[in-house]
Amino acid sequence: MSGAAFKPQQHLGGANRTAVLHTGDGTRCHRDHWLPRRASLRQGAKEAKGFDKLPHATTFPGVQYSTVILTTYIHRISPYRTEIRTIPSTMEKITDKVAALPPDSNYFSLEFFPPKTAMGFANLRDRLERMARGLRPLFVNVTWGAGGSTAQKSLELAEICQRELGLTTCLHLTCTNMSRRLLDKTLEDAKVLGIRNILALRGDPPRAAEYHDENDPEPTDDEEFSWAADLVRYIKKNHGDYFCIGVAAYPEGHADQSHPREQSLEHDLPYLVEKVQAGADFIMTQLFFDIDAYEHFENTLRGHPSGAFKDVLIIPGLMPIQSYQMIKRTTKLSHAKIPPALMARLDAVKGDDEKVKMEGVAIVSEIIERIKEIKSRTHTPRGFHFYTLNLEKAVAFIAEGTNLIPPGTPEEDESAILPDFPQLMINGSSVPTRSIQGLSTRKGSIGSDPRDRVIVANPRPSHPDYEASPSQAGLLAEPVNTRANTLAISEGEGVLGREATWDDFPNGRWGDARSPAYGQIDGYGVSLHVTVPQALQLWGSPKTTEDINNILIRHLKGELSAIPWSEEGFNAETEAIRDNLIKLNSKGWWSLASQPAVNGLRSSDGTFGWGPHNGFVFQKAFVEFFIPSADWRALEAKLKQPDMKDVVCFYATNAAGDFVSTDTVNFRARMAADADGTTSEADRRPHEPSTNAVTWGVFPGKEILTPTIIEEVSFRAWSEEAFGIWSEWAKIYEKGSDTQKLLEDLKEDLWLVNVIHHDYVERDGLWELLFQ
Ligand SMILES: Cc1cc2nc3c(=O)[nH]c(=O)nc-3n(C[C@H](O)[C@H](O)[C@H](O)COP(=O)(O)OP(=O)(O)OC[C@H]3O[C@@H](n4cnc5c(N)ncnc54)[C@H](O)[C@@H]3O)c2cc1C
Repeated sequence: MSGAAFKPQQHLGGANRTAVLHTGDGTRCHRDHWLPRRASLRQGAKEAKGFDKLPHATTFPGVQYSTVILTTYIHRISPYRTEIRTIPSTMEKITDKVAALPPDSNYFSLEFFPPKTAMGFANLRDRLERMARGLRPLFVNVTWGAGGSTAQKSLELAEICQRELGLTTCLHLTCTNMSRRLLDKTLEDAKVLGIRNILALRGDPPRAAEYHDENDPEPTDDEEFSWAADLVRYIKKNHGDYFCIGVAAYPEGHADQSHPREQSLEHDLPYLVEKVQAGADFIMTQLFFDIDAYEHFENTLRGHPSGAFKDVLIIPGLMPIQSYQMIKRTTKLSHAKIPPALMARLDAVKGDDEKVKMEGVAIVSEIIERIKEIKSRTHTPRGFHFYTLNLEKAVAFIAEGTNLIPPGTPEEDESAILPDFPQLMINGSSVPTRSIQGLSTRKGSIGSDPRDRVIVANPRPSHPDYEASPSQAGLLAEPVNTRANTLAISEGEGVLGREATWDDFPNGRWGDARSPAYGQIDGYGVSLHVTVPQALQLWGSPKTTEDINNILIRHLKGELSAIPWSEEGFNAETEAIRDNLIKLNSKGWWSLASQPAVNGLRSSDGTFGWGPHNGFVFQKAFVEFFIPSADWRALEAKLKQPDMKDVVCFYATNAAGDFVSTDTVNFRARMAADADGTTSEADRRPHEPSTNAVTWGVFPGKEILTPTIIEEVSFRAWSEEAFGIWSEWAKIYEKGSDTQKLLEDLKEDLWLVNVIHHDYVERDGLWELLFQ
C-alpha cells in the first residue's frame, strides 16, 4: 500500500463489515439488532440508499465519513436483556468504549506487530479474524517500528484490523528519529482508515542531527520531538480531540540513558504527569511479572498529589510466556524482572516447550487474578493488554481461563461451554491446571470416532451400530464457526486447532518465515538494542577491520556481552564449534548465527536436547556470516562446484539486494547445465526457492517436529535488518569520522552468507569446507 493510495472512497467498502457491529461491551451484534435504528440515521444521509452501504459507505453533510462507522449498538444489561442505544460518533475511541462498559466488568486488548514476510501477513489476517471472533478483544494494537521503520507495514496491518475486520484499532506511533512529514502523513492516513486511537510514544532516544531529513519542513520551537509528551502535545494541537491518545508507563521504571538512576518509577513520574496533562486519555504499561511492583505503581499513580491519574485508564501490559528462550530475551529487552519464585517454576519445565507455555498460562492467569483484586477497589471496568507476539494459543487459554472474554449475543452459541476445565493432555501426560483459577472450556467438539457409521440428523439413531448422531460421531453438532469452536481452534484443539497454531513454538531467529510470529523478538524494528553510551562502551570506535574481528572474537570468548546484531550470550552447544567460529572471525568472516551438526542425540541431552524428554534430536551444521566481497567471489566459486551440489546449499545477499543461492531449481539446473554446456536452456527455468530443515526432532506419538528451518524468504527478511544494523551502528559516530566511514564502507562491500551443510553425520564437514 503506497501512502498516496489512501482514497476514502476506495477504502470505505468491505463486505466483512456488513454482518456484525461492535457493541459497547466489546461484544458484537448482528445487523438485525440495529436495523430499526438506521431510519433516523438515514435522515441525515445524502447517499444512504441501501442497507449494506450504510455503516461505511455513507457520507453525511458536515460529518467526516470515518465518524459514522458505528452509530447504534446493543448495550448488554444482563445476559438476557439488551438495550439499543445510539452511540456518539466517537465510539471507536477506547475511552468511550470503556465508559460504556458496566462497572466491574473486564476488557482486554491484543497487540500485534506487522509480520516480516508476505506469507506471515496472510497468515496473521486469518489469525486475527479467528482471535477477534473467539476472544472478543475490546480493541487491538498495532506496533510501529522505531523511527518509522515499519511505517508502511504498520498501516497495512492497521487497515486490516480496522477496516477489513472491523476491530477498534490503536496505532502505535513514535516521534523520534523520523521526519515530521511521515508523522503528519501517518496521522492523516490513520484518519482515513477510521482509526481513532493512537499510542503516543517516544521510540528510541532522539538523535535528531543523524536522522535529519533535508526535505523536512523546519520545525518550530514547540515542534521538536524529544519525548513522548511532545507527540501528545503535537497531536492535540493539530487534531484536537479527534484521537483518543494513550501513553506508555513502566511499573518498574523506564530503563533509559537519559537519567542517571537506573530504573526508577519516581524519576518517571513527573514526566508521566506531563504526558497526561498534555492530553493523554489512557496509560498502557510495559510488560511485567512482578505483581508487587505493579500494585505499588497503581497505588502511587492513583494517590499522586497532582491528581493527574485519578480517573485516567491504567491498562496493565502482560506477555503470555511463549517459550523459555523467548521470555528470557523479552524480559531482558524490556528490563522487566521475573520474581525468583516464578522463574523457578519455569526452570523446572524448561526443557519442554509445551510445559513452559502452560506453566506460563498459569503464571499470567494468577497475575490477572491479583490485578482484578487490586483494581476491584475502584469499581470501574478492569482492562488488560496482551503482548501476543502474533501468537494465539497461550493468550486464548489465559483470556478464557480468567473469564476475560465478554459474553456473546444470543445468536452466538455458548452452549458448548462447560464449567469444568478438563485435564490438558500434553506429551502423553496431563498438565497441572491447579493454579489456573476459574477456568472453563467447551466440549471437545473436534475429533472423530474411529467407527464407520452413517451420521444421521436424528438425535436418536435407529440402528446404533450403523448410524450415529452428529454428537456421537464426534462431528460438530453446530456450525464449525461458532464462537466457542473458534476459541477452541485458537487454543490448538483438534485438527483445525493444530493447523491454526502450527507455529506455536518458534525457536530462535531462524523460525518459519511463513509464521506471523517470525522475527517477533527483535523488539520494535531495526535497532542496536543498547543505548549510545552502552554501544560506545561495548564496541569503542573501531578504525580497522581487525578491530571488528576483535569485537566478534571477544563476544565468542564471553568477554563482551553483546555485538550489534545480538545482545545474547551463546548456548552451551556453541562450545562444540567455538574454536571454528574464532578461526572464521579471525579471517574477517564475521559470524552472526551458527549451529553444530547433531546426529540423533537424546532429546533430554543437557546441551543439545529440546522438546519432550523421550525423543531424539538432529541438526545440520550451518553458519551465517558477513564476508568481504572479494572473499565471497572465491568462496562462491567453490560452493558452486558440481561436486558440492548435494553437500551444501547457501543463501547470499548484499546491501544492494543482489541475491544468489544454490538452493533453487534454477541454480541447480544451471550448475548441471554448465557442466554439459546447455546453460541458456536451464536459465529459462523458473526460480523455485525451497526450504531447509536444520533442526528436527523425532518423538514417540508425534509427527517429526521441525522448529528451525532456513529458506530464502526468511533469509532475505533478516538480511535487510542485518545490513540496517550497520547503518544504525555507523550513526552513533560523528559524521565523517573514520569509524563512521569504515562502517558505512563495510556495509556497502560485504555479503551476508548462510551456508548449510547437509551431511549432518559428518560433524566437521562444514568447517573443513570453509577452511580448505
Ligand atoms: C505499551 C508500550 C507499547 C510500546 N510500543 C512501541 C512501539 O510500537 N514501537 C516502538 O518503537 N516502541 C514502543 N514502545 C517502547 C517505547 O518507545 C520505549 O520504551 C521508549 O524508550 C520510551 O518511550 P516513552 O513513550 O515511554 O517515552 P517518554 O515518555 O518520553 O519517556 C522516556 C524516558 O525519558 C524520561 N523523560 C520523559 N520526559 C522527559 C523530560 N522532559 N526530561 C527528562 N527525561 C524525560 C522518562 O522518565 C523515561 O525514562 C512501547 C512501550 C510500551 C510500554
